[in-house]
Amino acid sequence: MSIKRRFWRKNTPGLDCREVGKVLQSYLDGELDDADAPLVAAHLDKCRDCGLEAATYDRIKAALAQPMPEGADPEAIERLRRFGQGLADS
Ligand SMILES: [Zn+2]
Repeated sequence: MSIKRRFWRKNTPGLDCREVGKVLQSYLDGELDDADAPLVAAHLDKCRDCGLEAATYDRIKAALAQPMPEGADPEAIERLRRFGQGLADS
């Protein structure tokens, strides 16, 4: 996928937080276009808020990718999954 940018912003370097938020999940999943990924990376580098959000999402994704530990509470896993989904949707 690629970032849909308004024509008047096309030549403006960098993204704002809203644009980054919309594509953050795709970026972290490695689904963003090669042309757009560096723009997101540059923003995450200088914007603390988006950087934190990316780190949080990354941690959740890593946690969900783990095989379910022995004796894990399925409800806790489900809560974590919903929390991750909420982040992705916001
Ligand atoms: Zn930001």
